[in-house]
Amino acid sequence: MASVEERTIFEKIISREIPADIIFENDIAVIIRDINPQAPVHVLIIPRKRINRIEAAQDGDAELLGKLLIMARDFAKSNDLMGFRLVVNNGQQAGETVPHLHIHLLSGRPMAWPPG
Ligand code: 5GP
Repeated sequence: MASVEERTIFEKIISREIPADIIFENDIAVIIRDINPQAPVHVLIIPRKRINRIEAAQDGDAELLGKLLIMARDFAKSNDLMGFRLVVNNGQQAGETVPHLHIHLLSGRPMAWPPG
């Protein structure tokens, strides 16, 4: 029997099984506040479609991935963010903890470079 992949916390948030501060949603994705914010503004843009991580994306996901960036743009604009950083962690070594692709949007403080 094929193994069923364990559902992630984000799928449970999207289906409202687990509460979260959902601040925007459309047919593509939801935007929630990160439970452990690393900046005054720290939200996660999470596609409804589960793609485990960017390396698992298919060529056919290109439009979806582009729309996630457009959602980041719109969130920044509607919240008058002066500057912001987008982060996608791919793999444990890069800091990925939830295997459901998401874009971190951080803002509200100066950002160091290079990131840690
Ligand atoms: P990753 O480390 O995979 O790039 O990012 C996962 C993010 O999800 C982390 O910043 C973590 O704080 C956040 N997170 C994990 N569990 C929850 C949760 O139950 N609710 C919310 N709102 N954020 C979560």
